[in-house]
Amino acid sequence: MLPWWDQPANPMSMHAEGRAAAAALDRARGQVAEACGFSREEVFFTSGATEANNWLLSKGKWAVTAVEHPSVLGRGAIRLPVDENGVAQPSMAPELEGFDGVSVMLANNETGVIQPVAEWSEWCRRKKLRFHVDASQGPGRIATKISADYLTLSAHKAGGPTGVGALLARRGIWPEALLVGGPQERNRRAGTHALPAIVGFGAVMEARGEGSPVARDALEARLLALGGKVAGGGASRLPNTCCVGFGGIDAQDLVVALDLEGIAVSAGSACASGSPEPSHVLKAMGFRGSAVRFSLGPENTVAEMVEVARVVERVVGRLR
Ligand code: PLP
Repeated sequence: MLPWWDQPANPMSMHAEGRAAAAALDRARGQVAEACGFSREEVFFTSGATEANNWLLSKGKWAVTAVEHPSVLGRGAIRLPVDENGVAQPSMAPELEGFDGVSVMLANNETGVIQPVAEWSEWCRRKKLRFHVDASQGPGRIATKISADYLTLSAHKAGGPTGVGALLARRGIWPEALLVGGPQERNRRAGTHALPAIVGFGAVMEARGEGSPVARDALEARLLALGGKVAGGGASRLPNTCCVGFGGIDAQDLVVALDLEGIAVSAGSACASGSPEPSHVLKAMGFRGSAVRFSLGPENTVAEMVEVARVVERVVGRLR
């Protein structure tokens, strides 16, 4: 990213600097496309996943699962139910007569629960419905080559910069223009490209493979031994996420107590933390009580998780 801050060039310019910027933009577009099994001209850069989700879902009638991120949930005409593990199964869906499409996230941002998107893709194909996947939580953790008409990505969820993401749309079913102005993004999303951020997004999509659950599992085993209940514990989950509740202990109290110990956890999603409302995700899966989410980075070690579990034991004992 650094060279593009030092030399702020516009990829739409004809001069040599502009052409170099255009080449960097094209490379990033290719890196994003390749990581997800789309082609370059199917990548539309946005300011993030919130924008991509709103862009696509603001047109047409969409069914969305009850555990989606609010940027999807707020655009859905109906909420598809999930089971006690937070998994939305096509067999649980009603007839979607008169609908244009279905939106199912790849993995949940609070629980890490992975949805059966391959089955949904096939189900939507049979029902002649468009299929969108909010894959924001996938890169760097699980495979992101997904059979879908549309895909949403967010760079910062994969360890890239904030303020950049993408809507991927198969050729022939591109969305109408979101912003009019310049010809950027095939006349659909005008405005000068945020090149340093886009270059970082491309790099992180290429560099990151899939994650390992070893450190998370070491933490989770210890939290279970302390009487913790893992939300979505019976489902396939992202390798880095553990959403756990301790009966009788309020999640907000635990967040504050752990913060004082230098351990940063969230109650629910980061966007909704601070709100006293219970998480819509936990509510939809019938999870009793509140829960905190431990999100590990690829650099976290088993030794660190053993230490974290020791601190949690002390704090939970005190709160109890
Ligand atoms: N969708 C999911 C599943 C997320 O986890 C997030 C994260 O905040 C978003 C959408 C919104 O992403 P962004 O911050 O890029 O707008």
